[in-house]
Amino acid sequence: MKVLVLGAGVIGTTSAYFLAKQGHDVTVIDRQESVAMEASHANAGCLSYGFTSPLASPGLPFNILKWALSGRSPLVVNPNMSIETIKFMYRLYKNCNSKSYEVNKSRMLRIANYSQKALLQIEADFDINYVQRKQGSLQLFWDSKEIDKAKKDISILEKFNIKSELLDPEGCLKIEPGLRYVKNQIAGGIQFTDDFTGNCYLFSNEIYKKCLEMGVNFEFKTEINAIETHNNAVSAVLTSKGEFKADCYSVSLGSHSNNILSQIGIQTPIYPVKGYSITLPVLADKDAPQSTIMDERNKIAITRLGDTIRVAGIAHLTDFNKELRAKSLESLKQGIDRLFPNSYEQTNDLNFWTGFRPSTPDSTPIIGPTPYSNLYLNTGHGTLGWTMSAGSGKLLANLISGSEPEISLEGIDMSRYSFANRTPQNYG
Ligand SMILES: Cc1cc2nc3c(=O)[nH]c(=O)nc-3n(C[C@H](O)[C@H](O)[C@H](O)COP(=O)(O)OP(=O)(O)OC[C@H]3O[C@@H](n4cnc5c(N)ncnc54)[C@H](O)[C@@H]3O)c2cc1C
Repeated sequence: MKVLVLGAGVIGTTSAYFLAKQGHDVTVIDRQESVAMEASHANAGCLSYGFTSPLASPGLPFNILKWALSGRSPLVVNPNMSIETIKFMYRLYKNCNSKSYEVNKSRMLRIANYSQKALLQIEADFDINYVQRKQGSLQLFWDSKEIDKAKKDISILEKFNIKSELLDPEGCLKIEPGLRYVKNQIAGGIQFTDDFTGNCYLFSNEIYKKCLEMGVNFEFKTEINAIETHNNAVSAVLTSKGEFKADCYSVSLGSHSNNILSQIGIQTPIYPVKGYSITLPVLADKDAPQSTIMDERNKIAITRLGDTIRVAGIAHLTDFNKELRAKSLESLKQGIDRLFPNSYEQTNDLNFWTGFRPSTPDSTPIIGPTPYSNLYLNTGHGTLGWTMSAGSGKLLANLISGSEPEISLEGIDMSRYSFANRTPQNYG
């Protein structure tokens, strides 16, 4: 079958890989010059199979107040809020209760768990190097209250056979010796032993090269303007390079998915939650992080990627404003200095970067069919798109091929949103 994949981020690229593997004739369209140039470019680098949590949690509203008072909030909201921002915050708030948290977390874990298997399958398929490490990740706590809160999550994790280990400060130092400067300040941590780390940009490029070998066609520097429909099906995609036609279409346009989908009546609740990262050269291995450390209080992730350290975080609700915010740079620098003060070379080039996490209010991506018979979605992966990419790509390919999905679609496809129960005819 001829399949057109819209978007060449990590989601579109892995979709193309699994579709090509299943024998389809695949073309990928993207406006950028190569793969993974937007949200997938310089993310935190954690493959958080165990440490998978929704943004909306019962404690979030209280935390927002607490952060606002402390003047060091990892969640920043622009004072001139747009309607889209208000809608996202309201929908997020509706998910801030124990029941939704557990449901959302279970759905995310279902995809994350499957994604780990799919990623290992990719690694078995061909020799792929994305400076990957398989040393687990460490969720770090500064006081016992934070530990007690995290313990509640362990029962959900056990349901999914996610391995985790509670560590005292000494235990944290054993796996991350560079933390010795804060040994007396930290309360402990949870190690997710099955988490991996790696560079998402490198991964996407390696998959891209393999896709080329498998005959996938990439159309870069091509702006997608609209989707044309006829008789409840997509008939063409209109781009800056003309019309593209296929038997089947998949949308993985990240935060921009709604711009195109809303034109044909599909309203996905995806909001661009802006985040930032810096990437620094390692100075001394003994002082540097070995894997991912998630500073739970400050919501900053620090990851070792080859001979560099990536520091990422901040959730900034400011629509599609691409400005590199000086205060966010400061927070990230403080994040690394607080935990690994002697780990990186002093440099003027911090590789300060920003990207938009394509976020749904329930933090679960939207994968599966739409009311249009030949249109599929693989989008809305939020804070964990890199983690969920391989499983999402494989799930999508199985659905398009008509094979039985290997995990349930319950709560993953767009039918979980009430507005999705409309048919193309009444989209008006
Ligand atoms: C600071 C930060 C840290 C993160 N850390 C992690 C992490 O540690 N682990 C993790 O799992 N995830 C992490 N994420 C999330 C992860 O990076 C995203 O979920 C993931 O990259 C989304 O991939 P995507 O392919 O859906 O979107 P994108 O990578 O944004 O890809 C969408 C593509 O669509 C193209 N496009 C859009 N509109 C058009 C158009 N009209 N015409 C043509 N092309 C178009 C874009 O050019 C782009 O290439 C982080 C994100 C951020 C911002």
